[in-house]
This record gives sequence, structure tokens and C-alpha cells, in this order.
Amino acid sequence: MIITNVTTIEQTIAQACHDAARRREDVQEIVVTKKRTQGEIQEMYDLGFRHFAENRVDKLLMRQQEFPQEDIVWHLIGPLQSRKVKDIINKVEYFHALDRLSIAKEINKRAEHCVKCFLEVNISGEVTKHGFSADEVGDVLTQLQQYEHIEVIGLMTMAPFEATKEEIDSYFSQLKALRDNIMKSQANSSCKYLSMGMSNDYPLAIKAGATHIRIGTAWFK
Ligand SMILES: *Cc1c(COP(=O)(O)O)cnc(C)c1O
Repeated sequence: MIITNVTTIEQTIAQACHDAARRREDVQEIVVTKKRTQGEIQEMYDLGFRHFAENRVDKLLMRQQEFPQEDIVWHLIGPLQSRKVKDIINKVEYFHALDRLSIAKEINKRAEHCVKCFLEVNISGEVTKHGFSADEVGDVLTQLQQYEHIEVIGLMTMAPFEATKEEIDSYFSQLKALRDNIMKSQANSSCKYLSMGMSNDYPLAIKAGATHIRIGTAWFK
């Protein structure tokens, strides 16, 4: 039942924050709605959740028709194709998967507001994963400064599906170290948040410093 899952997840988040000596309010949970029914999402809304995410543009647009409530904060968390930027970019507050410069250019051209973006980093180096390599990030941030409609607020990563707990832990810690380096070397950088952690690994992510956790299946199982 959703309410039971919500209670369990909340306790797990609170415990992970406690273990890591972090404040609960510094971790924003995002409800990933892909594959869920309208009724399930409505239940999450009624329970007070306001941050919702989809990984596909068409799906997100559909969800916004189903849920026109003004107080919902929409996150696009999946890869974006250039030709779809204009359809979606003025309808979301956050984009978590900025993974190439060409997409940044298109966002800047089409956006009518400043889009809060996370740079996707391929920390694991897995060939099938999207994202910049850790080595590229500093340079990319500098290049993105020319875009007035893009604010890079943090870094995002996804652990490989088959990774062990130790590997996941290492990937999350590496992303945090990268963020810490940026904050140190680029004074006034807005790149301070970490979007990492999904249903299977969000407690590890919180312990490693995640500020935005993207949970889907665990709410609904
Ligand atoms: C689907 C998805 C999630 C949520 O995954 P779960 O394992 O269902 O929690 C998080 N982030 C991204 C980018 C996703 O596509």
C-alpha cells in the first residue's frame, strides 16, 4: 500500500540523514511517476507530495494535463532530444539530465525562464550511460556560463544497474567530491546540489550527500 511505503521510505530517509549527520530538510524527495496510474499519482498528491518527475517528454506533457495543479513542481529527469526542447522546456522547473553542450544551446534559445539544470555525469564510465565525464565537467561549467537561461544548480548521476553496494557508494562519493571541488575552485558557483539515488540506492545516496533523490517504484510496490 502506498501509505505504508511512504511511511517506510520517510523513516529510511530520516535514518540515513541521522546517520550522516544531515538535516532532513536538505534532502528533497521527488516522486518519479513513470508507469504509474493517475489514481496512484493522485494519492501521492493527496499525501502532500509536490515534486513529480518523468523521464520522457511526451509522458510529462500528458501528466501535466492530468495534474494541472499550480503547486506541482515538475522535474524532467531523462535525456532530451533537441527537437523536443521547445515543447517542454517552458513547462518544467528542473532538468536533471543535461548531458551535452548542443542541448544546452537549444535550451538557452527556447527557454523563457532560467531553467534549473543538473549536469549529468557518467561517473562509472559505463559506455551505455549518458553524461559528461568527470574530467569534462569543469570546462563544461565554464562554457555554460554564457547561457542566460541555464543555471547549473548541481550534478546528477545514475549508478549502473548491476553495481554492487560498494561500487554504488564509490560512484556517489566521487560525484560529491567533484561537486566539492567545483564549489572550492569556482567561487560563487551555483552548482551545489546532488541529484542521485533511486529506489534501490537512495539511503546510500543520502549518506554520500544527495540533496535530490528520485524515487519511483519504491512508493508503489
Ligand atoms: C525511472 C527513474 C528513476 C526512478 O527509478 P526507481 O528505481 O523506480 O526508483 C530515477 N531516475 C531516473 C533518471 C529514472 O529514469
